Amino acid sequence: MCEEKYIDAHVHPLIDPMKIIKEADNACVDKLFLLATEILLKKINDKKVRERLRRISEETFFLLDLEIYRRLGVSDIVKALEMFYEDLLKSYSEARILSEDVLEIWRIFPDRIVPIGSIDPDLPEDLLMKRLKELYKLGIKGIKLLPTLQLFDPEDNDGFEIIMEFAEKNKLIMIIHTGCDPGPFEIPALSQWANPLKLERVLERYSPIIILAHIGSYCAYRYGIWFNEALRILKRFENVYADTSAVNDFIFYEERIIKKIREEVGFERILFGSDYPVVLNSTIKEEIDLVLESPYINDYERHLILRENAEKILKEISRDL
Ligand SMILES: [Zn+2]
Repeated sequence: MCEEKYIDAHVHPLIDPMKIIKEADNACVDKLFLLATEILLKKINDKKVRERLRRISEETFFLLDLEIYRRLGVSDIVKALEMFYEDLLKSYSEARILSEDVLEIWRIFPDRIVPIGSIDPDLPEDLLMKRLKELYKLGIKGIKLLPTLQLFDPEDNDGFEIIMEFAEKNKLIMIIHTGCDPGPFEIPALSQWANPLKLERVLERYSPIIILAHIGSYCAYRYGIWFNEALRILKRFENVYADTSAVNDFIFYEERIIKKIREEVGFERILFGSDYPVVLNSTIKEEIDLVLESPYINDYERHLILRENAEKILKEISRDL
């Protein structure tokens, strides 16, 4: 039934695993990267974190993102802050998927799933190392981090450096969220740590395989927000890849974007991602069709994006368990 088989580099186990596999079958996807999201929930109550969030909220409310606050349905700053914390707590409890949950699904479908764990870089150092070793032993193939929901600055975080070093030494894939995120993180100032340029300094020191999720471009009210920044990082560091999750309609349907990728970095490090089931009302098949039907890429590029690049990564990180 399938002429070709594809690889999806960005799926969240937010629904019944059987349904995910069924969706994958329907889309001719034979392998998918399944992503955990581990967050230290109590961090939100930290005094320093709260102060910083309050400061960002105040600054952006009056300056940069007034229009976005309006679109989010906010009319005054007191209400904005209230909503902000409410949303944040909500997105926190919703976004929590343990690495163990991903590993469990992998054990049921070992040939279909690439298990990507997650870890909060603000864990105390001894616990962080212990957790990294534990996840590695359990068979994790990569680590997903989110500077948005995990509230960390990649330019200034010791735990992040420890994780990068561990990933380089042990051949784990790093997947880093870049761009805005749903909920309050649609406010660009609040997502500023997910600007790909924030990774530049640490990439000068560590070079694991790293995937910029959403190619810096996801942002409901400012689509393509840090696309140029993502390109700059791709151009500078050979070990950096990017996935197209949540922005397939943007990347593959803007001729200037395709041209820029082709001319500045090429398609050898661009991976297809569906972000299933996060993109509302969209299936893996619909996301793949966006790539298959794009008028701007050729068949060779399509094949790289939908299969070959991901296959190359999997070969590079393969190890015996
Ligand atoms: Zn995602």
